[in-house]
Amino acid sequence: MSTARRRATKQAGKNEAVGRREPDTATPHRSDPATPKGGSAPRSVFLAGFAAVVLCLYVYYSSLSSPDGKWQPQALPLDLPFTVVDIPGKGKGSIAARDIKQGERILREEPLFILPSQVRVQGSPGAIVLSALASLSPHQRDAFYNLSYVNFPRHLTPNSPSYHETMALAIFETNAIGADDDGTGIFPTTARLNHGCSAAFNAVYSWRSSEGALVVHALKNIKEGEELLTTYFDTKRPRDSRREHLRTHYGFTCQCSVCSLPDGESQKSDSRLLKMAELYERFRTWRDGALTGKQAVDVAREIWALGDEEGYWSERGQLAADAAWVAAAHADLRATRSWAQLAQKWFGFELGADSTHARSMDEVIANPDSLRYRTGATRAPENVGSPDA
Ligand SMILES: [Zn+2]
Repeated sequence: MSTARRRATKQAGKNEAVGRREPDTATPHRSDPATPKGGSAPRSVFLAGFAAVVLCLYVYYSSLSSPDGKWQPQALPLDLPFTVVDIPGKGKGSIAARDIKQGERILREEPLFILPSQVRVQGSPGAIVLSALASLSPHQRDAFYNLSYVNFPRHLTPNSPSYHETMALAIFETNAIGADDDGTGIFPTTARLNHGCSAAFNAVYSWRSSEGALVVHALKNIKEGEELLTTYFDTKRPRDSRREHLRTHYGFTCQCSVCSLPDGESQKSDSRLLKMAELYERFRTWRDGALTGKQAVDVAREIWALGDEEGYWSERGQLAADAAWVAAAHADLRATRSWAQLAQKWFGFELGADSTHARSMDEVIANPDSLRYRTGATRAPENVGSPDA
């Protein structure tokens, strides 16, 4: 239904270890009141096919219902480490109210509702969103309608049925966040995070299906007063391409610290990002036998070094987990363990130390042979080398 943001949250250690990392299709945005403003940066979700297909609506109400079945107002957490303020030229943004440490959980949020992509029910996309809203409390509906939107047609008559449907759909499309296989949801507090490209974003959100909640973690140390930025999509591409994508889908021209680099610096950044994307593609070819284990792990190291240079730290947990997989398939158990330790550390930063991904490394670290069995040990034994090799 959508390409709302999906984090790299696949389990490490399955058959397609290399290359199953999903694109970083993030979706946070600006959250001006429900009035489109020039330069605002809402997130967009593509509902291609959504209108054409008869979908079924299943509204996921998280745990908001009271025992007597009445909806409770969704109170915002009181202990958030950030405040939402107006930022000149950018609409609203989230500013750290204190220093936030790398890996710290910034927020845990349950959805107002989730629209699953698979089930079937009749109705236009806008009507489906309205149906979901009808089941919410007035407070929750307010939270929804306070979100920003783009791509709203000007010709509609205010308060007509089509106006309401189009408005609801525009807000949904602009703010929805992918919740992996569970569908696409609305998270009004997370929606307060603006976008930054490449080295500019410092916060990452990920959906936890088992908890029915979205969690946001600090990818980097964040100083008090600094803006919290997450990313709407995979920004390993040149500035022109990033800006074009953001203008088309989110209605703003990105002015993040990476997009604002002087031309010379920007070109160097573009080269690094393109090279990283290219190397990820190359890394994947290990699956087809195009690379030896050592060659694949060397590519992983090269991606890592470029990430250091660029300041692009996202997706490192998965990269290290994939390298551990390669090492295990080639029976280099020492390297398997050290890559798994690195994966656990970076999964911890990006997804949380208590995430399934970080925890899944426990067994590999304790017993690297367990991963070798899972890979099928199909590759020739080879010394692929540890992260610091
Ligand atoms: Zn940017």
